[in-house]
Amino acid sequence: MKERYDIIVVGAGPAGSIAAKTAAAHGSDVLMIEKRQEIGDPVRCAEGVAKPQIKEHIKPDERWIAAEVKGSRIYAPDGTSVELSEDVSGAEVGYTLERKLFDRALADEAALAGAEVRVKTRATGVIMEDGYVKGITARHLGEEYEIRADIVIGADGIESKIGRWAGIDTTLKPSEIETGAQFLVTDIDIDQDRCEFHLGNTIAPSGYLWVFPKGNRSANIGLAIGGDVCSRGKRPIDLLRNFVEERYPDGRIIELVVGGVPSSGPLEEMVADGLMLVGDAAHQSDPLTGGGIINAMNAGSIAGEVAAHAASEGDVSKARLQEYEAIWRERHGKRLERSLAVKNRFVTMTDSDLNKLVHSVEGIDFSTMNLFQMLGILVRKNPQMLFGLRKLFM
Ligand SMILES: Cc1cc2nc3c(=O)[nH]c(=O)nc-3n(C[C@H](O)[C@H](O)[C@H](O)COP(=O)(O)OP(=O)(O)OC[C@H]3O[C@@H](n4cnc5c(N)ncnc54)[C@H](O)[C@@H]3O)c2cc1C
Repeated sequence: MKERYDIIVVGAGPAGSIAAKTAAAHGSDVLMIEKRQEIGDPVRCAEGVAKPQIKEHIKPDERWIAAEVKGSRIYAPDGTSVELSEDVSGAEVGYTLERKLFDRALADEAALAGAEVRVKTRATGVIMEDGYVKGITARHLGEEYEIRADIVIGADGIESKIGRWAGIDTTLKPSEIETGAQFLVTDIDIDQDRCEFHLGNTIAPSGYLWVFPKGNRSANIGLAIGGDVCSRGKRPIDLLRNFVEERYPDGRIIELVVGGVPSSGPLEEMVADGLMLVGDAAHQSDPLTGGGIINAMNAGSIAGEVAAHAASEGDVSKARLQEYEAIWRERHGKRLERSLAVKNRFVTMTDSDLNKLVHSVEGIDFSTMNLFQMLGILVRKNPQMLFGLRKLFM
């Protein structure tokens, strides 16, 4: 097996595959490794993505689209609801994916662009020389070996170790992780055109519950809560069982997903000499919604291009690779900053506060607005309750 590349990408999720595809398309010799034997499996996701944003990275293909929705409904704890359209830029959900097939399709594109893909290959450490990351150690079928490269891109998700091995502080406090559980429930009567989001401290403290249609009378029904509010009898799985037993007593559960997503906002440092971090590994998921697929792809695309140029120029210093971080922060940093501020305010709210918020916008037509435009209206309608968010939305 070859043991030297321009770029090694660790992790074949959306961030890794887009980074590998982009770097290979720019002429780099790329290896992408994945510790699992099957890319995309097991799924740790509710599989919701916005249509306009996904199209920037890959042509939609019915093989990996399980359902297409026209809008979503947000429910206050007392059951009052408001509706948002999904056909607007910045909407949160438009497709429910079949992620096992979607992640594989992305890896396929990386391979077609020229990247080599090795599955069942786990990074076990980074090779450090003179302060630079010079490659990784990897294990494949019980054998441990070194693979060298000019740049390592850590796309190894929430469990990322690549950054830590290279000296970047990637620690997440429990309050900075949304921990979730989800059932795929089938044989239920739901509106296949609408996603549902349910708020409330009984349903999902410091988080929310979702119902994402998946076609054929089925839906991903799940919730995520702050890691700091998890306790015996109130784990995500306990709260989820309560909801599903009450709302869909005759539904049949055919899959269980568990997992966490960073809700901290991005890492302060995403690069080091010879190293870049992308996607959940760089904590780039949205702190408010927990959405991370598109964010991971956006970062992968910027990182892949910068890495390819840096490797061909022969300068892989932190200063050179910071171009990736600067572009990423300019394009996406503000949005995540706003999401983090909103999340930090929302997690302190009582059910009565949440009810008041939703009541304040009842009857308003949000059909041409995305989540952030709706939040802007909430801030204007509730200046006292949302005082601290004023300057972010006005
Ligand atoms: C319950 C839940 C629901 C979610 N719902 C949504 C949603 O509806 N919409 C949305 O946009 N986002 C959602 N997310 C978040 C989304 O799944 C992630 O943000 C997204 O997958 C991040 O992509 P990534 O490529 O950075 O990481 P990942 O998709 O996690 O990929 C990382 C890959 O790296 C591999 N890896 C890890 N360590 C190593 C190693 N040492 N060596 C080799 N390979 C390694 C892993 O096996 C994995 O394949 C959800 C998350 C959870 C937990």
